[in-house]
Amino acid sequence: MACKSVSDVRTVIARLTRIYRPARALSEPLQLILWENIGYLIDDERRATLFAEFKERVGLTGSDIARAPRSVLLDIAKRGGMNAATRVERWRAIGEVATAAGDDLRAALRALPLRKARALIKKFPAIGDPGADKVLLLSGIDSRPALESNGLRVMLRLGICPEQRSYAANYHAAVAVLKAAGKPTRKWYMSAYSALRAHGQAVCKRSSPLCVACPLDAICAHVRLSGAY
Ligand code: SF4
Repeated sequence: MACKSVSDVRTVIARLTRIYRPARALSEPLQLILWENIGYLIDDERRATLFAEFKERVGLTGSDIARAPRSVLLDIAKRGGMNAATRVERWRAIGEVATAAGDDLRAALRALPLRKARALIKKFPAIGDPGADKVLLLSGIDSRPALESNGLRVMLRLGICPEQRSYAANYHAAVAVLKAAGKPTRKWYMSAYSALRAHGQAVCKRSSPLCVACPLDAICAHVRLSGAY
């Protein structure tokens, strides 16, 4: 199956951005990284609650995190889903990497060439290419396409890009399509990230997409191939 045309992709993003208002998002690089690591398989509401507790009891600088007592970290981590002890070690690693970078991660990233800034972000736990793109985009350090898992699922089901053999390959193909089809501005990439994510969470759900209620059903490859209704 070929990728959809540039105008199809722009139409999809334009239609979704009319439906979903952009969610308020963090913009500090270290906070974005901590947000990714604050819990395991928890929803945004619980994630926000834990993040607020972390901010209150620990603080949000690298040195705050690095010197926090393990007992406090573990107490917070226990409410963030499975593998609390692993999460504590990840938080400690976040504190150490951030402190080594000078404790002002935004300034450290801005001082580096983009390739090295990206490499520094990927030193943090659980941050691969999707996480690095997200941090660079949402923090305003670089204007580039980014997707999280909900948005990627929407793009694949719509047939915006053909399914590849791995998540990483799917991700790289999808951001390449967004880059080729979109407007090369932070505003457009932020809109695409936010609207695709919202659609994946609300309608194009992982196990049971609500195709009957979907405004994109007429152009969706998943509906055509699966006979969803
Ligand atoms: S029609 Fe169904 S599969 Fe296609 S984007 Fe909408 S919810 Fe997802």
